[in-house]
Amino acid sequence: MLHFREITRIAAVGVLLVAMGCAAQSAPTGVVDPQIIDPQIMDPQIAAALQQISAQRIQANIEKLVSFGTRSTISAQDPASIAAGHGIGAAREWIKSEFERYAKDCGGCLEVKTDSFTEEPTERIPKATQITNVYAVLKGTDAVNAKRIVLVTGHYDSRNSDTLDVSGDAPGANDDGSGTAVSLECARVLSKMKFPATIIFLTVAGEEQGLNGSHHFAQMAKEQGWDLEAVLNDDIVGGDKSAEQDHSVVRVFSEGVPAAATEQDLRRIRGLGGESDSGSRQLARYIAEVGRAYDAGVKPMLVFRLDRYFRGGDHYSFNQEGFAAVRFTEFREDFHHQHQNVRTENGIEYGDSLRFVDYDYVARVARLNAATLASLASAPAPPGNVHILTKDLENDSTLTWEASPGGLASEYEVLWRATSSPEWEHSQKVTGATRVTLKLSKDNVIFGVRSVDRAGHRSLPVVPVPEH
Ligand SMILES: [Zn+2]
Repeated sequence: MLHFREITRIAAVGVLLVAMGCAAQSAPTGVVDPQIIDPQIMDPQIAAALQQISAQRIQANIEKLVSFGTRSTISAQDPASIAAGHGIGAAREWIKSEFERYAKDCGGCLEVKTDSFTEEPTERIPKATQITNVYAVLKGTDAVNAKRIVLVTGHYDSRNSDTLDVSGDAPGANDDGSGTAVSLECARVLSKMKFPATIIFLTVAGEEQGLNGSHHFAQMAKEQGWDLEAVLNDDIVGGDKSAEQDHSVVRVFSEGVPAAATEQDLRRIRGLGGESDSGSRQLARYIAEVGRAYDAGVKPMLVFRLDRYFRGGDHYSFNQEGFAAVRFTEFREDFHHQHQNVRTENGIEYGDSLRFVDYDYVARVARLNAATLASLASAPAPPGNVHILTKDLENDSTLTWEASPGGLASEYEVLWRATSSPEWEHSQKVTGATRVTLKLSKDNVIFGVRSVDRAGHRSLPVVPVPEH
């Protein structure tokens, strides 16, 4: 079977040849030589941190989460159940104590917080229920850049065959003990480092009842005007040990047309072919670059759709509020092991049990997440107000932007790719200016502009808006 990466590689080579052909043809008119994109750098400090991510720690954390019996959002959270270590309340308190332990280990560098609210009855919530998201904030070290936030999340609630069952076992080892463990392990390891921008390590509840926790959190981020650049949602990253699993790959789902697009945005997307250039899609491409720069042990396979068929996840809550957010999920899910009571029927084992989880795989996915978070939190802010001039009909392309706020950028890169290409293919450095004219027709390619610092950390790219 040909893997996605190999397919993209072949496609990229094909496009490059086409581009070179075009360049050769029109060379007399001064078309710039297509430049292969400068790769995302490998920062040795980040690479060293990735080595600290431990499959044993992840295993211990998933085992602890499973030990609470059920983590159904509507299960017990009274003091007696918490003391007995049973139900979602006990899970919540343990996650909080774990974040607090990491905070103590880094001299109070993490601020541990909860976002608690009462959800009124809905189809899957029979009576008013308190839902609590637990999170830790690693504040950026640079006063201006600390306002920029990147976030990793997993949902700590679980379910079995019946979403309304509050007492039966619902181990949720993979869905989503694995994603919760990724968020925790990223917090433990990255809290030992310093970044100019802020990283939030989040665990939410209510996912299985209707994305309630993430919905509340994303709304709070929107209402409070957070500069939330990227959200990584890990949900079912346990690498279920089924025969056809591919443990070298993790899927990264991203929306194409943004859920929060206005009518004006949609008109522009339709007119200019912007269906594959949402903020979430740029984040997915960024993860692909990070996956090539660092040896996480697992490669991201970009899936250009919001989610699996008729399935949903917490990244969508963030997309709805206009934030770039993607979903990580193992290559092949075993549906006998999701949303099922633990049992054996006709020789088939059902249930989301510990023995199906591959802890080494979860650790590799955690490394890819940590590398992405650390790269983004080290990078300058993206350039502001990126425009492409369209007043005159011309075959050159002029792009303008505002300097990256926060003072970290030392130069910029204009990226471009064929409209039919999945990933950025070429780049042109721009130093000491916030405007460039390229001998390339905007009608034939898609452009983006990103900020670069002295060490080579790159921001997310921004696709230009036409300026008349
Ligand atoms: Zn899930």
